[in-house]
Amino acid sequence: MSDIINILPDSVANQIAAGEVVDRPASAVKELLENAHDAGASKIQLIVKDAGRTLIQVIDNGCGMSDSDARLCFERHATSKIHKADDLFAIRTMGFRGEALASIAAIAQVEMKSKLHDSELGTHIIIEGSDVKEQTTCACPNGTSISVKNLFFNVPARRNFLKKDSIELSHIEEIFKRVALINYQTDYTFHSNGKLLYDLHAGNFAERISQIFGNSHREHLCPVNEQTDIANIQGYVSKPEYARKTRGEQYLFVNHRFIKHPALNAAIEKAYADVIPERHYPSYFIHISVDPSRLDVNIHPTKTEVKFIDESALFSILRAATRKAIGQFSLATELQFNPIEEVDFPPAPKGYIPKPPQIHYTPGYNPFGSTSSHSRSAQGAPIKSAAPVDPKWTSFFDIKSQTESKPDTLADKQTTIESPAVLPSEEKPSPISQQTPCLQLNNSYIVSVMPSGLLVVDQQAAHERILFERLTNRKSPAHSQQLLFPVNCQFTPADAEVLNELLPDLKEYGFEIGSIGQTTFVVTATPTDVKESELQPFFDQILVDYKSSMIQKFNNRAQSLCRSLAHQMAVKKGTALQQTEMQQLVADLFCCQMPTVSPSGKKTMAILSPEQLLS
Ligand code: ADP
Ligand code: MG
Repeated sequence: MSDIINILPDSVANQIAAGEVVDRPASAVKELLENAHDAGASKIQLIVKDAGRTLIQVIDNGCGMSDSDARLCFERHATSKIHKADDLFAIRTMGFRGEALASIAAIAQVEMKSKLHDSELGTHIIIEGSDVKEQTTCACPNGTSISVKNLFFNVPARRNFLKKDSIELSHIEEIFKRVALINYQTDYTFHSNGKLLYDLHAGNFAERISQIFGNSHREHLCPVNEQTDIANIQGYVSKPEYARKTRGEQYLFVNHRFIKHPALNAAIEKAYADVIPERHYPSYFIHISVDPSRLDVNIHPTKTEVKFIDESALFSILRAATRKAIGQFSLATELQFNPIEEVDFPPAPKGYIPKPPQIHYTPGYNPFGSTSSHSRSAQGAPIKSAAPVDPKWTSFFDIKSQTESKPDTLADKQTTIESPAVLPSEEKPSPISQQTPCLQLNNSYIVSVMPSGLLVVDQQAAHERILFERLTNRKSPAHSQQLLFPVNCQFTPADAEVLNELLPDLKEYGFEIGSIGQTTFVVTATPTDVKESELQPFFDQILVDYKSSMIQKFNNRAQSLCRSLAHQMAVKKGTALQQTEMQQLVADLFCCQMPTVSPSGKKTMAILSPEQLLS
């Protein structure tokens, strides 16, 4: 048989390679915007027609190209960004593979004008399906203007795969947002079919978020700011009460690059596990800065997937930083849009082995153990103190000063990483004295005063939060009270099976339950917050909640059980509370790690300043 192998011409090879890099107009937009950014542009214009089918134009005022570079940039593996293989681990630009323009030129009609800042004249080049049709000198502004016309003109199969214009445009818009969000020091405009969609001015990250997503985001977000040896983390996460039923605005960037990283995305979501309802998702805009040598961006042609050397440590840092931000800032009424300083992350020293941060905390108490500071609720159930009340609470603590102070670094604090630990009470001063008088409104809300304003606490949501943290942070089996008369409860065979599974957990939480027969259980002891007369509906509800959270694959079994128990055991709206009970409840709430939201994401309190009340 004669030889059958031949080397494909460059134009065909480029067309094949283009399939990886440019699969729809949005991917060409991404490459062109990134090139403009890499060229150091301070102003970038994006113009599209027919959702990028007929025209994608990007105009920048970046460094521009010389005549020969303008020709060379359309060759495959032509790049000014790396020179040798080692450079792959010191990448600070968006591009480096030198294949975007070659790919685009292989599947479109491209016209480019480019001029170096110190040149009199620029270059005009026309290239179609990898064929250079024309190259001339021309008068043009500093920088580069590149027009990509009739994308896929020579690849009908690809063209036919394109979705309708509205969908392709929304992909372009998403790409534009990703690039513009993190390059907040650059001016951007975006026109589609002659209409101005975005006009963004240089500013800080927070300003860019509100330019793109609207001013309401000021109220929705809390700042995250954490500096560690492994990474610097800056950005904003949504307050728990603004979680949504869909995963919407979730933006994770590393070294100015938008990335998709399921584990890190999960780290952020995990931080919200006990502060938002199930199947709700937070928004976030997080920028991770790491030493480029500890990051591999070359694992995927579009570079949205990356690999970190310190992945598991980063997971912990991100989760803890997010949690700290939610805990510290969710009370602040509006985000302070202060300029964000650029992080210049120092390279890790040679041979450096990163250590994940350690957890150091003292679990302060046995949730059902202390009986000394009990007071009786209206139903006779005692509301117990989460931590001994510090007698030194004489001066008030202004919550605002807490929200405005710069968060300590994880390394300094050495607090929570994996565990939702409660800080020891001496490290967590209550912003309110336990002697401060309280009033009860509609038997549902506790009203008190703080230096920064009027405090209104939702008694049910607050008690849920307190109980939830006691249950989850418990270090030994909870105390329980023996019932005078054991109570029998009856379940369906299926429910009885689930309950059997839960018995060991329930025992830990202070329930003593034995099964008698297939579907009957006898309860002999319960925690003190549970009413003996309502045990059957109590367990029915626990089973309903538990089954539904398991169906939804809410993956933390203990957490969903605690959430349900806290919900059931909490003092209800409409229950009259005595003065000491209200004071205790408020004091306990401020000892919580996440005092501002219930485990199901409901706000537990509001602080109204005189200005807010009187404006
Ligand atoms: P890469 O970005 O991976 O280097 P590209 O094919 O996107 O590869 O671009 C090739 C080269 O062309 C770049 O390395 C850069 O030197 C030059 N270039 C592309 N776009 C621009 C631009 N807008 N301004 C200046 N130079 C550019
Ligand atoms: Mg590029």
